Amino acid sequence: MEKVVIIGSGCAGLTAALYTARANLNPLVLTGTMPGGLLTTTSLVENYPGFPEGIDGYELVSRIQQQAERFGARIKFSTVEKVDLSNRPFAVLADGEEIKTASLIIATGASHRHLGLNSEAALEKKGVTYCATCDGALPMFRNQPVVVVGGGDSACEEALYLTRFASIVYIIHRRNALRASKIMAHRVLSSPRIIPVWDSIVVDILDVNKGKVTGVRIKNVKTNEEKTIDCAGVFIAIGHIPNTTLFKGVIEMDENGYIITRNGASTNIEGIFAAGDCVDHKYRQAITAAGMGCAAAIETERYLAEIG
Ligand SMILES: Cc1cc2nc3c(=O)[nH]c(=O)nc-3n(C[C@H](O)[C@H](O)[C@H](O)COP(=O)(O)OP(=O)(O)OC[C@H]3O[C@@H](n4cnc5c(N)ncnc54)[C@H](O)[C@@H]3O)c2cc1C
Repeated sequence: MEKVVIIGSGCAGLTAALYTARANLNPLVLTGTMPGGLLTTTSLVENYPGFPEGIDGYELVSRIQQQAERFGARIKFSTVEKVDLSNRPFAVLADGEEIKTASLIIATGASHRHLGLNSEAALEKKGVTYCATCDGALPMFRNQPVVVVGGGDSACEEALYLTRFASIVYIIHRRNALRASKIMAHRVLSSPRIIPVWDSIVVDILDVNKGKVTGVRIKNVKTNEEKTIDCAGVFIAIGHIPNTTLFKGVIEMDENGYIITRNGASTNIEGIFAAGDCVDHKYRQAITAAGMGCAAAIETERYLAEIG
């Protein structure tokens, strides 16, 4: 039987692995289909402390993994299909193999919603992005027009943040009013550097042939009229989906599927902890995910010490 199994190998899971490994718990990390997590999809991380020149996302998580392995963490390329948390030890079914464990750390992250356009996929990392805090300050967007797609609090936050760098920020929303909180909507609508574009959807992102974003083609959903907005970046902020379906009905979640934790990283089931973007719909950063992974590990260590 395992002492601790960690589901997910992003910043949260690998940091939990580092801490539990250093506590001699010999953790088993199940990577899922994205070893290293979301950060591996970005080339430059400029806001992770300790790297003044920035660091490649893949290299950063590889280093955290090496650090965890140095202290005895075991990393297994395997995806969890099912869990049975009704008995102890807990049972985890991963790629057909049943693993029993005394404790569990859930660090399965969240996926961002996509517009679903071919051009969106083709231009990801070439001007199409899902995180203004992560990418907004990159040179390619400085003093350039950019577009934010969405109308909720996240879209508003992204738009306001981008006014620090971009020459102008268009916020494109399918309705004729923002869905965001009143205060947020007021800030956006009173900013001289944000132009709302109402009743509109993005139907194409230009220019796949040039290999970079040069504009968006939008359609007014009321008139069907189409037009092009020139821009250097498209920030898509239409929501995230936490990867928590496996735990539905067993682990307590909010209405959007984010795991609810209390007293740090504890879930409603004793011995099961959660960390990172599957819990956090507010900050969604590598450093906060790593911090939550650390907290989950320390609590796991205490729990295992208590049960002996
Ligand atoms: C393009 C992009 C750029 C970014 N840039 C920055 C940046 O510059 N700075 C910054 O701080 N943050 C950045 N972020 C945000 C950062 O990547 C996330 O906040 C961070 O990765 C969250 O870590 P996590 O461990 O919670 O989840 P994730 O990194 O999403 O990892 C989730 C892990 O769970 C695994 N998993 C899921 N389901 C299962 C399953 N059933 N079985 C087993 N494993 C499973 C996945 O395979 C993956 O390994 C960026 C995000 C994106 C998308």
